[in-house]
Amino acid sequence: MSQDASDEGYSEGDLRNTGMDLRHDREWDYELERIVDEIEERDAEKVGLQFPEGLKRRGPAVADDLREVVDDDVTIMLSGQPCYGACDLDTYLMRRTDVFVHFGHSPMKESDQIIYVPLFSNVDPFPILEDSLDELPDPEEDPAVGLVTTAQHMNRFGEMVEWLEERGYEVHTRKGDDRLTYEGQVLGCNYASADIDADHVLYVGGGKFHPMGLAMEHQEKHVVIADPVNNVVTIADPEQFLKQRYATVHKAMDAEKWGVIFCTKIGQGRWEVAEEILENNDNAYLITMDEVTPDRLLNFNMDAFVNTGCPRITTDDGPQFHKPMVTPGEYEIAMGNKPLDELEFDTFHGTW
Ligand code: SF4
Repeated sequence: MSQDASDEGYSEGDLRNTGMDLRHDREWDYELERIVDEIEERDAEKVGLQFPEGLKRRGPAVADDLREVVDDDVTIMLSGQPCYGACDLDTYLMRRTDVFVHFGHSPMKESDQIIYVPLFSNVDPFPILEDSLDELPDPEEDPAVGLVTTAQHMNRFGEMVEWLEERGYEVHTRKGDDRLTYEGQVLGCNYASADIDADHVLYVGGGKFHPMGLAMEHQEKHVVIADPVNNVVTIADPEQFLKQRYATVHKAMDAEKWGVIFCTKIGQGRWEVAEEILENNDNAYLITMDEVTPDRLLNFNMDAFVNTGCPRITTDDGPQFHKPMVTPGEYEIAMGNKPLDELEFDTFHGTW
């Protein structure tokens, strides 16, 4: 399964069941003109295109459109690497092309080398916002509410803020840290935009992973999930998630030989975290890899793994691995360096 997979098994880049299925090509403006301008301006001979999993099938058509308008000597290359987030740039292709276009995600870090072509949802969020009012406090008693969403719904964020304000709310928003592009945006590994002065947070988006991360990161807050794709409003409850994590940490407590995974994807490397584990554990072995999958770890004969890469691999895909896989924070608990009640959601800050 993917790195950014939600509990339903869909990744941020995988558009099945997300409301972002592009039924008509016209619905997605993939900014052909901007790409062509860039190719001409740079006199580019090699152009790399990277699509997330759910958009890969669009790749050949985008390449066709480009081939039609650029010079015959321009080579268009499609990245075949798996891609689940803006943390996951195909740096091999990027280094070998004059123009590199990353589709479907907002920038994690701006760079002249990369053209980012975002993808926004075409789902109307306002009917589900209306339903979510039943779970929010009466604005006359407690008007403060935080608003967060994923990059795909950012095109309507300003309107959502206005909509809530018109109904008497004082909407608190912030731009988390430099891992995030927009004010109010959350990632599966970063919820800093919800560090706001309000007891209630409204999350607009699909999946269960983001609101779960929010509820774990901000346990003092009441997190209301307005899912405009599946058309449901729920309250995030971290209990089930915590039970699953406690069970994994318990299993990892018996481990002697540890595999410490360092992910080589550009936006997923936490070298200091991996290094510190290795310095303090003679039975720990550093394993470097890009895509972290169960079959790649099978032959290492470890008792447990600690993953310093994408937290969604550890928590969402964790049960698929043959040995317990924990986050760096959970590793400290499994080693007896921290009490069980200090279990936290694994988050990433900063870029590269
Ligand atoms: S590291 Fe963060 S941005 Fe990258 S795939 Fe995982 S959750 Fe998404």
